[in-house]
Amino acid sequence: MEKLVPTLDDAFKVAQVTWRYANYTVPSYVNMVSGPSKTGDIEKVTTYGAHGPKEFHVIFLDDGRTRLAADPVLRQALYCLRCGGCLYECPVFGLTAGFFGDKYFAGIGAVWAREITGNHEKASSMAYTCLTCGRCRVRCPMKIDVPEMILALRKSIAEPE
Ligand code: SF4
Repeated sequence: MEKLVPTLDDAFKVAQVTWRYANYTVPSYVNMVSGPSKTGDIEKVTTYGAHGPKEFHVIFLDDGRTRLAADPVLRQALYCLRCGGCLYECPVFGLTAGFFGDKYFAGIGAVWAREITGNHEKASSMAYTCLTCGRCRVRCPMKIDVPEMILALRKSIAEPE
């Protein structure tokens, strides 16, 4: 649900930022699904389901995101567009690749591991592996402050409520 934007224009902006910061000149994937199959070919009357599905269902997952959005610091994890630009900059990811991550890679992945997937062991090891150097923050199109989140995460790991 954190990926919802109000208009199609906004969605194209998100797509463009994502591929540009991922160092691509064209998008690697864009899927457009506009609803159930419909046609106006039959006597110019809009008819649904003539060539495909009659119904269209979309499921938005919360799964802890509303709770995360209430945290003044860690909510930044929800701003991530998943361009992967930070991975080009992260000195730890450069050496460890897929080992420095869970569902999301690099420092921001620690927040996702703890707050969304509930993998506390992984979250702790990632939180203390991150160097808090801030190289990812400089590259990030959303200016996500990973060091700030990592310090908050370490505090909550060390002093659970
Ligand atoms: S702050 Fe952490 S996640 Fe960001 S570049 Fe440095 S080591 Fe990598």
